[in-house]
Amino acid sequence: MARRSFSAVLALSAGLFALPSIINISPVQAQSANDSFIVDRVKTKDPVVFITIDDGSVITDGLVNLLLSKKIPITNFVLSEALKTHWKALHLIRRPGTSFENHSETHRLMSSLSLKEQTSEICRANEHVRGNYKKLPIFFRPPGGSHNSNTVIAAKKCGIKKIVLWNVEADQGKIIRSGGNPMQRGDIILLHYLNSLESSLKLVLAELKRLGLRPASLRDYLDPAPAATPTTTTTLPQ
Ligand SMILES: [Zn+2]
Repeated sequence: MARRSFSAVLALSAGLFALPSIINISPVQAQSANDSFIVDRVKTKDPVVFITIDDGSVITDGLVNLLLSKKIPITNFVLSEALKTHWKALHLIRRPGTSFENHSETHRLMSSLSLKEQTSEICRANEHVRGNYKKLPIFFRPPGGSHNSNTVIAAKKCGIKKIVLWNVEADQGKIIRSGGNPMQRGDIILLHYLNSLESSLKLVLAELKRLGLRPASLRDYLDPAPAATPTTTTTLPQ
């Protein structure tokens, strides 16, 4: 995809920066039960939350340093184009607990596409991630949270194990949780690779510390075939 269309994709992403409950027009609902195929939070007794970062338009040196110094487990839903544009920075932030998952190839709204088109978007993005990281994604996050019953069929065809939505989003100095309460264990937090990410992340980490929560790896909790020992939790930065 040309750089120009990538910009358009990211503009679309910014416009869709909203909770799935607001824009999700599908009858297929997310659940917190961990055996559900679509989840927007995780059921757990551990004091953990899950930081997920989408798209990939901007990745600053400051952000890379922050991620590396705090050893924060991150689930990345980076677009295929960003994998190419920012491959150096994205390889730098690789560490145990950080995974690269599927956010579609071109960021089109799944509910506007046919089953064949959705399958192409998801399967092709899988191959791009595998080409870069030698590991297939197991999670799919539909752009804007838009999905329908065909999205489930397409994702399963491509080997995806979970569709991962979110129930908290953070940007522009605000943390917004669905329902308005403070963050709780099991929450899935959405951020975006934007200029504001570094400050948003610091805000989230400070709030997690205040609440006695810590970030953990989504694969440790939602992979149906997890490793025997969790690879990563982290202590919060001082
Ligand atoms: Zn997106």
